[in-house]
Amino acid sequence: MRILVLQLAPDTRGRPLPRFEPQLGVLLTLLRGRGHALSLIGMARFELDRLKRSLARELPQLIYADISGVCINLAQRVFQHLSGREGLSIVAGGQYPSIDPAGALSLPGVHAVAIGEPDATLVTYLERVKDPISGAVTPGVWLRDEQGTSRPKLPHLVEDLDSLPPPDRDLFDYAAHVSRTGQIEVAVGRGCPQRCAYCVNPLMESMYADRGQWVRRRSPQNIMAEIADLTRRFAGVASVRFLDHAFAQDPMWLAALLREFRTTCALSMRCHLRANRATQAIVASLATARCEQIDIEVISGSQFIRDEIFQMDTSEPHIRELFAWCRSAGVRTRAIIYLGAPYESEASLDETRNLLRSIRPDVVDSRCYYPLPATEAAETARENGWLHRRGEEQYHGEQCGIDMPACRPDMIRAFAAALRSEFPMDWGEPWWRRWSHKARQAMQAILARDRMG
Ligand code: SF4
Repeated sequence: MRILVLQLAPDTRGRPLPRFEPQLGVLLTLLRGRGHALSLIGMARFELDRLKRSLARELPQLIYADISGVCINLAQRVFQHLSGREGLSIVAGGQYPSIDPAGALSLPGVHAVAIGEPDATLVTYLERVKDPISGAVTPGVWLRDEQGTSRPKLPHLVEDLDSLPPPDRDLFDYAAHVSRTGQIEVAVGRGCPQRCAYCVNPLMESMYADRGQWVRRRSPQNIMAEIADLTRRFAGVASVRFLDHAFAQDPMWLAALLREFRTTCALSMRCHLRANRATQAIVASLATARCEQIDIEVISGSQFIRDEIFQMDTSEPHIRELFAWCRSAGVRTRAIIYLGAPYESEASLDETRNLLRSIRPDVVDSRCYYPLPATEAAETARENGWLHRRGEEQYHGEQCGIDMPACRPDMIRAFAAALRSEFPMDWGEPWWRRWSHKARQAMQAILARDRMG
C-alpha cells in the first residue's frame, strides 16, 4: 500500500520538520518491512500547496497522520482538505488521538484511530485491512463505519524493546540533521516512572494499567549496537543525545549502559536528569562517561508550583546541590523553566529568578507554559477558568496557554524578556544552521569578517 505519513507537530526551537521521533521511526521501519511504500512530510502550519504537491507526487492510498497534542486545529484543516478525495483513507495516531480518541475520530475524513504505541496497533490494523472479510477487530484501533464506532481495548505493551527494529531515520532526512548538529538522538526506553502533572505520561500509564510493564528499557548492548550502526552510516557524528526523561532513573541499568558507553565508543553524550532522582554518584558516573551536558527540568522557583501543582517531588536544597555537583564535575547544565504555570504570580516569578541566580545554569531554556490536553495541570487550569481563549494558537505563538487575573500573558512576556537579558539562553538551533552546507559556510564567512571588523 502507498502510505503518506503526515507528521503534524509544532515548530519547536527552529528544528525542521519532519523531526525524528523514535516511536514513529520504529513504526516506519515495521511498515516498510511489510512491503508498504512510504513517504513522510512534516507540517507545523497549514500549507496547502505543499500538501497538494505531495498528494500529486506520492498518489497515496492511505494517510497516516501522527498528530501532536498541540496541533488539533491544524489536523482539522488538513483533513478538511483531504476528506473529499475519493479512495483515500485517513488513519490518525500519535499523542492527540491517544489522549482523545473520540475527538480524533470525529475529525473530517478520519475513519480509524490508532491509540497508544503504534507498533502493535497500526501495523496489525493495516495487515487486517488487506483481508476485510475476516471482520476481525484490531486491539487499540477505534473504527467508525455505518454500524457505529468500535472501541476495542488496547493490546499488550511490547515489553522486550530489543525485539523491535531500529527506527527509520532516512525519511526524516537524518543525514542533514547530523551534518547540522554533529549529534545522533537515541531513545533508550519507553514509559516513565514519574507522574508530573504537566505531562501526558500519567494518563498513558493508566491507559495501559493492565497491559504489561509500563517502564521499559532496552539492553545496553542493543543501544550500543544502534549507536555503532549510526556512527557508521552518518558522517560527522560527535555525540549522542539520549532523549528519555527516565534515562538516569534506574541506577543499575545506568551503570551497565555507561560502562558499555565508556569502553566501546569514543563519542560524548548529553542526557536528562530528574532533580528528585539525582545523586552525586550519578553525576560523577555521567561525567566519567564523557557527558557534556545535563538537561534538568527545574520548571519553577516556587515549591508550591513545582510540587503541589506539577507534582514533581523536588526540594530546593536538592536542586541547588545538583547544579553544584554538575559544576564541580565539569558538566554543563541546561535549566528548563516554565513561565505562566497555574498559580503563577509576581512572587513566584521572583522565586524563579532567585533560584536561577543561585544555581547558575550554563544555559536557560525558558518556555511559556502551555497546558497539554488531558494533563492534570490543564484540568486545574480549566476548573479555574484559566485556559486562554485562543487555545493552541498561544502555543504556536510561544505565548502562555493560560490567562489568570493575577498573571496575564503580557506580564510573562515582560518577565521572559528580563530573564533573557540576565541569563544565557538556549535558543535551539540558530536559523542559519538549517541552511545548506554551502549557505552556512557563506554566512559563517560573513560573521567571521564582521567579527574581525
Ligand atoms: S519525568 Fe518527564 S516524561 Fe516523566 S512524567 Fe515527568 S515530564 Fe513526563
